[in-house]
Amino acid sequence: MNLNLKEHEVWFVTGSQHLYGSETLKKVAEHSREIAKALNVAPAIPVQVVFKPVMVSPDAVTDLCQAANNANTCAGLITWCHTFSPSKMWINGLKQLRKPICHLHTQYNRDLPWRTIDMDFMNMNQAAHGDREHGFIMSRMRLSRKVIVGFWHEEATQQKIGAWTRAAAAWADWQGAKFVRFGDNMREVAVTEGDKVAAQMRFGYSVNTHGVGDLVKVVNAVTETDVDALIKEYEATYTVTAALKRGGNRHKSIREAARIEIGLRAFLKGGHFKGFTTTFEDLHGLVQLPGLAPQRLMAENYGFAGEGDWKTAALVRAMKVMASGLKGGTSFMEDYTYHLAPGNKVVLGAHMLEICPSIADGKASLQVHPLGIGGKADPARLVFNTPAGPALNAALMDFGNRFRLLINEVDCITPPADMPKLPVARAVWKCRPNFADACAAWIYAGGAHHTGFSQAVTTEMLEDFGAMAGIEVVVVDADTKLRQFKQELLWNDCAHSLKSGWVS
Ligand code: MN
Repeated sequence: MNLNLKEHEVWFVTGSQHLYGSETLKKVAEHSREIAKALNVAPAIPVQVVFKPVMVSPDAVTDLCQAANNANTCAGLITWCHTFSPSKMWINGLKQLRKPICHLHTQYNRDLPWRTIDMDFMNMNQAAHGDREHGFIMSRMRLSRKVIVGFWHEEATQQKIGAWTRAAAAWADWQGAKFVRFGDNMREVAVTEGDKVAAQMRFGYSVNTHGVGDLVKVVNAVTETDVDALIKEYEATYTVTAALKRGGNRHKSIREAARIEIGLRAFLKGGHFKGFTTTFEDLHGLVQLPGLAPQRLMAENYGFAGEGDWKTAALVRAMKVMASGLKGGTSFMEDYTYHLAPGNKVVLGAHMLEICPSIADGKASLQVHPLGIGGKADPARLVFNTPAGPALNAALMDFGNRFRLLINEVDCITPPADMPKLPVARAVWKCRPNFADACAAWIYAGGAHHTGFSQAVTTEMLEDFGAMAGIEVVVVDADTKLRQFKQELLWNDCAHSLKSGWVS
């Protein structure tokens, strides 16, 4: 199920100045319009790219930045200086800008006309130095932004812009978003805790708790007709054994799971929530721990995490937005258990129940099994493997003076054997750069056991997203050297402690 990223616009803004006269400025506008149009239809860019008039004065820049702040549809600005645009005229506007910014360092003309080049050509194609002036002021103002260098027609350039626009769409989606927790964090767990006020100030979303009784009331109001209809959908979509079908001895468990799913969806829709958490420690009045319901709701792009882990629930939602329309799924995940054979060390990722079927390799199997914890009736869940291919795990931790976003690039493998006795969905992966260094790096970085897992979201998107949020981003990938990584953590600690004193 795809979200519509075309609801988001990025504004294409070209810097110039009055100096050149109206004929040149007309040409600048024409060229900019052409570039904006090409980016708007580029398959790699999922949002709308909207041309804006060429900036030639301080007031115009200020008006533009204020308009961007006020436009709900505007997810960010792409700026470029075709000619020279003195940067002091950008200061007042950029000071007020509250939207993400991407500086595209490109040139309208790809090739130099070697035999005919004259001063007219030179004056029209000045990005090589115009964009340096533009870059200086953003560095001088300590503005977090993405710099993309490349010819605007090239696929590689458009891919980079596409990644940034996906991050910008996810960032826009977080602003004013609401996440609901049914119950608190799992008792005594540290990493799922965090400052919800700091998160709202930094990220723009709010997290509030509802007693599970509020949900139970909605679940209990679900009609048998609606339950019947949903069960038909289950039977059409998944492998379902006879025992779970109507007349089977475990059919009741499926009916309860369907009732919980319908109730949860109604609650989320009614409250305009974009994600939720549950906890097995607080299920009063619910017959089962919700398993099938979070799985299916994640597939509808709701953020979710277990045990009250609201930071991961919000992150999963953001990753769902970034991934929209791309091949490969995105899910809540937990590093669960290891295979430690020499030369073939792999991680088996899973959770008690709640893995999103968007990462299923083929048709999922609907099953009911006992659950050791929670003290409730046997819950329903979808069971499946995850296809081989590149993926990543991302975690968001609260370090008191900042949030840290940690990413590990991994490679999913086809499980080496069937696991007929394992009653949960799972993914099996190899870590980059290798098992020992990846796990050590993750642990040095205080990485959570809960993650957002994706076979669609890229490190580049998450780095862009982290830059928009102004938080720390650390990456464990094929190039990671543990010694250097430990130093990076130390330097980041110092930098983020100093950062509050920066003048911006
Ligand atoms: Mn967990």
